Amino acid sequence: MDISVVIPLYNEVDSLPELTAWIRQVMDDHRFSYEIILVDDGSTDGSWMAIEGLKAMNPKITAVKFRRNYGKSAALNVGFAAAQGDVVITMDADLQDSPDEIPELYRRIVQEDFDLVSGWKRQRHDPPSKTIPTKLFNSVTRGMSGIHNLHDFNCGLKAYKKEVVKSIEVYGEMHRYIPVIAKWAGFKRIDEQVVQHYPRKYGKTKFGPGRFMKGFLDLLSIFFVGKFGKRPMHFFGTMGVLSFLAGFIIAIWLIVEKLVSIANQSPYRNVTEQPLFFFALIAIVIGTQLFLTGFIAELVSRSSAERNNYQIEKVI
Ligand code: UDP
Ligand code: MG
Repeated sequence: MDISVVIPLYNEVDSLPELTAWIRQVMDDHRFSYEIILVDDGSTDGSWMAIEGLKAMNPKITAVKFRRNYGKSAALNVGFAAAQGDVVITMDADLQDSPDEIPELYRRIVQEDFDLVSGWKRQRHDPPSKTIPTKLFNSVTRGMSGIHNLHDFNCGLKAYKKEVVKSIEVYGEMHRYIPVIAKWAGFKRIDEQVVQHYPRKYGKTKFGPGRFMKGFLDLLSIFFVGKFGKRPMHFFGTMGVLSFLAGFIIAIWLIVEKLVSIANQSPYRNVTEQPLFFFALIAIVIGTQLFLTGFIAELVSRSSAERNNYQIEKVI
């Protein structure tokens, strides 16, 4: 199979017939063998009924229904797991992304051998309240990730080699950083492609202003994952142990010094009155705290199997 189109959707009932018909048209025009994977992220507006009707008309459609709303990342993750095509295309369900971009994205993966080609909505049709924070977000992400050739990390329209989606896991709000995750998984051939972006035709955006804060915390955490391997919090644990050891050694040294001075019957010096001893105590306390923080985080990350614990209600 050439292409899997993965579409996460949450309450997009009005767009679905037009979107799937448009994709079908493009695929047929270019004679691609394809599948459309619709992941219904707990819609409450009748999207699932619409999907069942659409599948009856187009057998290339498969669909997964979540028991409730788990977020776009979880929906993408399920779509990635199901995808069978050599190239996987993701797009939003709201008709803001154009299926007409698919052939060129496909060509760049297959012929130019890119691992990931990300859409760039150079001319966005969104209000400034959205585009300005987005610009900021993109430049921070560029700096932190070292992927300097992307302008629009969060564009819903992207193309991947199949291996890429099979080797990464997206959860939380991490769909915004898929190129970063892919790079850290070892896929370095990443580029972008200017794509059309239309105003939302039906319904309204599902992401409020809180999205940037959540997204930023996720960026910090994946930054640590990238730097410190699978155990991000080992960093804190290690700092804790170092701080503890430094304090401990200084304290022992001061005590030994005192014992020696007593043995030599030199003038009495009270160890606990020395600033260095005070410093050593602080280092020990902070070290213990940091170590425990790292340890707790380790425990939490061990139960991280839970992070993608979405429940699938139906598959068609
Ligand atoms: N979406 C989803 N789960 C959610 C929120 C959004 O699957 O919890 C889907 C949504 O239906 C759409 C895509 O993610 O297909 C992008 O969402 P939206 O258009 O609201 O984001 P925006 O374009 O405003 O950034
Ligand atoms: Mg949208």
